[in-house]
Amino acid sequence: MRCPFCGSENSQVKDSRPSDENSAIRRRRICSDCGGRFTTFERVQLRDLIVVKKSGRKVPFNRDKLSRSIEVALRKRPIEQERLERLVTGLVRQLESSGETEITSAEIGELVIAALRELDPVAYVRFASVYRDFRDAADFESVLREIASDVSDHRLGRDAFADDADADDDMDKTK
Ligand SMILES: [Zn+2]
Repeated sequence: MRCPFCGSENSQVKDSRPSDENSAIRRRRICSDCGGRFTTFERVQLRDLIVVKKSGRKVPFNRDKLSRSIEVALRKRPIEQERLERLVTGLVRQLESSGETEITSAEIGELVIAALRELDPVAYVRFASVYRDFRDAADFESVLREIASDVSDHRLGRDAFADDADADDDMDKTK
């Protein structure tokens, strides 16, 4: 495994342990040449997936990209990193076992929306608003009505509407 710092191919595995509920192996490595430390993950991949974009362009499916987009929606929400990992792993398994090699970005988006709807109402609204390209308040209202119909224990407040600036305010108040 090439060192991301100096490009050397001499790295040593220092530690190797199961991660993400045994669906991955996490390896801590150290570069023999520059001493840089980095982590690699080994995961099962059932099949190579191709994502068909709205434009028709095809790109290889990228787990990290999916993970990052969900991470953005979950920013400052009380969801642990591990839970996010499990969510992503579950989504990837669903995609890999769908029987199709090519999936549209729209299908992926709807899967994520459905998963977030279960996990966290605020992240759900954030992701849906970006993904479905909300244009006005009516779009938010309709999605909030959907939430109101399935949420009973979650506290749903003003922050469901928050943009980043408001989210920052919320953080400050809790300090
Ligand atoms: Zn190095």
